[in-house]
Amino acid sequence: MLRENLRAVRENMEKAAVKSGRALNDITLIGVTKTISPDRIQELERLGVKDFGENKVQELLNKYSVISPSGGEPVNWHLIGHLQRNKVKYIMDKVTLIHSVDSQRLAIEINRRALEMDIIKDILVEVNVGEEASKQGISVDGVSEFVKELLPLTGVRVQGLMTVAPYVENPADNRELFRKMFQLFVDINENIPNNKPMSFLSMGMTNDYMVAIEEGANMVRVGTGIFGSRL
Ligand SMILES: *Cc1c(COP(=O)(O)O)cnc(C)c1O
Repeated sequence: MLRENLRAVRENMEKAAVKSGRALNDITLIGVTKTISPDRIQELERLGVKDFGENKVQELLNKYSVISPSGGEPVNWHLIGHLQRNKVKYIMDKVTLIHSVDSQRLAIEINRRALEMDIIKDILVEVNVGEEASKQGISVDGVSEFVKELLPLTGVRVQGLMTVAPYVENPADNRELFRKMFQLFVDINENIPNNKPMSFLSMGMTNDYMVAIEEGANMVRVGTGIFGSRL
């Protein structure tokens, strides 16, 4: 089942990529592994998915230690859920990319830890593009300023933007929001030093990843579409 699901997701991704003038290889598929057992994650890894997303620190740590790379390519872990400052220290040396930076205090803590370790941590700024009260993220109006505030932190590199769009019955209903995200991404890139361009736009989940890619996403986070329903 995993193999067939993955094939379908990749085919869909490719169609959407081509529609937006890109290729499948330009888009990173992050397999969202929350609630999924290590043996199934390892199975996905053997099928060629090397990027995994977890929304909880403890779950990420549990799985990190038991999933091993096969076929020579390392695996990348992505923290995609809300991150508390007191948990930053546990993941600094384990995650490739933190998608959910939504406050300056969090960014400062990541920066502090990174400088201690003599590394630069790649992060994305989470945007609450739907302006939902229930969601984390910087408001659309504040993103540009927020990114500028992070630029002086030499231990973090703002690699892009991330959003969790609202759940909608009809995925096309999120098209305008994805467009808004892409526009933000382009506008901010024009206004930050050109030696620090953002590279990643992380948006699109099982329900709407095709629309997100059509509108410019180059990272999609898919759980249910690969593993089936978590319920
Ligand atoms: C769970 C989750 C996903 C994946 O959701 P699916 O609908 O199962 O694809 C993507 N992003 C975040 C932040 C998540 O928490």
